[in-house]
Amino acid sequence: MTHEVFNQPPPLADHDVAADTALLAAVEREGAGWAAGDLHRLGKLAGTAEPQRWASDANRYEPRLVTHDRYGHRIDEVEFHPAWHRLMEVAVGEGLAGAPWADDRPGTHVARAAGLYVWSQVEAGHSCPISMTYAVVPALRHAPELSGTYEPLLTSRAYDPGLRTPATKRGLLAGMGMTEKQGGSDVRANTTTATPAGDGTYRLRGHKWFTSAPMCDLFLVLAQAPAGLSCFLVPRVLPDGSRNPFRIQRLKDKLGNRSNASSEPEFDGTVAWPVGAEGQGVRTIIEMVAMTRLDCVTGSAAGMRAALSQAIHHARHRSAFGRPLVAQPLMANVLADLALESEAATTLAIRLAGAVDRGEPLRRLAIAIGKYWVCKRQPAVVGEALECLGGNGYVEESGLPRLYRDAPLNSIWEGSGNVQALDVLRTLHRDPDSRDAYLAEVRLGTGADRRLDAAIDEVAAALAGPAEDQARRIVERMALVLQASLLVRHAPGLTADVFCATRLAGDRGQAFGTLPTGIDTAALVERAAPR
Ligand SMILES: Cc1cc2nc3c(=O)[nH]c(=O)nc-3n(C[C@H](O)[C@H](O)[C@H](O)COP(=O)(O)OP(=O)(O)OC[C@H]3O[C@@H](n4cnc5c(N)ncnc54)[C@H](O)[C@@H]3O)c2cc1C
Repeated sequence: MTHEVFNQPPPLADHDVAADTALLAAVEREGAGWAAGDLHRLGKLAGTAEPQRWASDANRYEPRLVTHDRYGHRIDEVEFHPAWHRLMEVAVGEGLAGAPWADDRPGTHVARAAGLYVWSQVEAGHSCPISMTYAVVPALRHAPELSGTYEPLLTSRAYDPGLRTPATKRGLLAGMGMTEKQGGSDVRANTTTATPAGDGTYRLRGHKWFTSAPMCDLFLVLAQAPAGLSCFLVPRVLPDGSRNPFRIQRLKDKLGNRSNASSEPEFDGTVAWPVGAEGQGVRTIIEMVAMTRLDCVTGSAAGMRAALSQAIHHARHRSAFGRPLVAQPLMANVLADLALESEAATTLAIRLAGAVDRGEPLRRLAIAIGKYWVCKRQPAVVGEALECLGGNGYVEESGLPRLYRDAPLNSIWEGSGNVQALDVLRTLHRDPDSRDAYLAEVRLGTGADRRLDAAIDEVAAALAGPAEDQARRIVERMALVLQASLLVRHAPGLTADVFCATRLAGDRGQAFGTLPTGIDTAALVERAAPR
């Protein structure tokens, strides 16, 4: 009798991660309805036990730095568990890396963002090189000759790991090296030097403090050239098959993201090709950063959704005090509040991918706003979802601890919170067209909810010239207004109404689970339930 197990939920397995009402509606709206079949196929794979085992193995058996071969030659390789390679193979094969840049169909970036959202719910760490490979393409186009050689391989759906001459491989992966010891946000303080070699190439010397996924084939790197900070392409293997100096000093011992290797490479006589004009390094690499920031929004929306699905599943199958948790009014309030946050994040992420797809002027400002706010919400949402599982949520096997450890990362890299918020202010100041595009977008929701109408007027007035120390406050408001505008247009009335009441008009407390009384929380939870 002591070993009879009851009131323990079954694992959340054999469901379709893509059966996500808010996601599918957004994908259709943003022009990628044609991708629904592929999304469901990927979603069903993501919902089965095998990839979930890959995810836990890839994090449990962490990447290992191998500096030398048995004979003493420097090789600077990183070994990964086979599970990592399975995850990567699916991601590249499904076109989540560079593929959209080689696909003219309208909605292709939306379809890819939705695929990333679905697949990264299985495991977030490997989405780092996937995202960088996606993001490198527009920046690399500043060097048409290099782009002509490498773009077909960066956009390929073949996962071909291992350090070999890039042009001989079936598919390539790319990373980036900006951050140095003395500064990550302030990259203009970089000290890595780039000396012209006289043949169009340069030689780099310096030490990068964070360069993730060092087993990638190609890197975009910032270094100081004679005319100032410049962007360079660094292949790990040179065209003649020899190794380019890329001495990995160590791998970082990180809070989360443990399946992914983040390294400190040292450059010493490293051969590099210029990308974009000398002295225009930030302007060039920002095209890559803009796309990885988009993926931070998508990745955070995915992390929240994955945690929410687990929380709802648990609450439906676990009883306390004679009733399933989901039927307890206070638990329903918590889950409904989390569901609102998740839907707002998902809707915004896919809207941003649509803006990229169509090259809308809205894109730059709205991605920065989304990066600030959606990434900031992730640790809070995942922490609360974890608590819905009680003690089980604190135990590794539930998967929630990994989601929790991974949660703060998207807000840190590619522009930490403050930097992101200040970037929004700078863009508003320098580029009035982007402000107009933002206001035009949010005003599409005018007339649907008086609280939104008032918030739009208030934000429009605040955009006139916010002080630097108010950046977070105004950007948070801009994000909430943008999310509310999307929800009043596209979500059910209940979702939009409760979002406006709580997020715009402030009818809630500081924690989740403080929605006002009298709301149909069961309907909000039902809409978000995993299927
Ligand atoms: C797991 C992981 C992987 C990474 N991978 C890569 C990679 O592959 N390539 C790469 O180049 N980098 C990578 N990074 C580095 C990351 O991009 C930087 O850590 C980040 O940009 C912040 O830089 P920093 O660490 O130097 O912090 P700092 O620049 O010192 O910033 C510290 C804090 O100060 C704030 N701050 C900075 N300026 C201001 C200001 N003007 N006003 C107010 N606040 C300010 C920041 O928001 C931050 O909170 C990675 C980081 C992590 C954690």
